[in-house]
Amino acid sequence: MSDVELSIVVPCYNEAPGMEAFWQRLTRAVAPLGLAWEAVFVNDGSSDATLEAISRLDPGTGAVQVIDFSRNFGKEAAITAGLDHARGAAVIIIDADLQHPPEIIPEMVRLWRQGTEVVLCKRQSRDSDSPLRAFLSGLFYRLSSRLFEVKIPRDVGDFRLLDRAVVDALSRLRENQRFMKGLFAWIGFRTETIEFKVEQRAHGSSKFHFWKLLNFAVDGITSFTTVPLRLWFYVGMALSLLAIGYGFIIMLGALLFGNRVPGYPSIVALVTFLGGLQLIGIGILGEYVGRTYKEVKFRPLYVIRKASLKEPSHARPGADGQELS
Ligand code: UDP
Ligand code: MG
Repeated sequence: MSDVELSIVVPCYNEAPGMEAFWQRLTRAVAPLGLAWEAVFVNDGSSDATLEAISRLDPGTGAVQVIDFSRNFGKEAAITAGLDHARGAAVIIIDADLQHPPEIIPEMVRLWRQGTEVVLCKRQSRDSDSPLRAFLSGLFYRLSSRLFEVKIPRDVGDFRLLDRAVVDALSRLRENQRFMKGLFAWIGFRTETIEFKVEQRAHGSSKFHFWKLLNFAVDGITSFTTVPLRLWFYVGMALSLLAIGYGFIIMLGALLFGNRVPGYPSIVALVTFLGGLQLIGIGILGEYVGRTYKEVKFRPLYVIRKASLKEPSHARPGADGQELS
């Protein structure tokens, strides 16, 4: 075990202009804590001088670690790499654009020292987001709380502190499509939430545009629920029942009033019925695909905080010459 107490993971994609300012505020917040600390910068294939900017930083009381990706792999991958390489007993993930104020780190550390294993930082408002983005994220959270197997806390981003036990548990989830918000929620542990005021981006613009966010949401939904696959089974059932009902109405109509347009009603009823049958078929396939999908993620079946297993009391200590540890 290393003696680093706190690691700060910073995913960076084209953040050169603000790097120095970010580092100033970070060190000013962390240095007074008197911890052995390191910052793990993950350069996510930046096309500007981010790497040079990081290498110019003065480590001061901390240490600067750098992981340089060969290309842009995305924020989720950058966070994963940072967590894999962080050695601290606690790890904090923070954005490099100063939207996450480093000044609340001491409060996060205080909670951690009191035994909290996950400290979430919840943004007070979404003022810094466009109305469309705020609306869509609201929609996403509502949808996810209905559909997902885990509850994703609202307005909580990647800014958080994780205890070593949580980081280790997380490193056992190696699925390729990493929807970190979901994985964090899945893992559990004793959690506290503190609020912070999200600031305007210090420089540059957000790297997440409409399509990227939409894809992000689809990633989240497909990673944490197979409801979309199962849906077709129910739609198919409903459609088939409707078709059967309609068939009866046509038959009745033909018997009572005669058939005015020969062929037409029966064809519609038949087409609807067959459409329904096909959807049921797709739904059944979906069910199996969903199950296979869940299996290939190889998620652990459970996560243990700490197992305290004692020797049975009738095994007398020292009787067979062995010390019990
Ligand atoms: N980021 C990254 N890889 C990417 C996109 C973003 O490492 O492909 C980093 C970025 O440098 C920043 C953080 O992730 O530190 C958040 O990105 P951004 O501010 O663009 O997102 P937003 O705050 O709008 O959600
Ligand atoms: Mg940002």
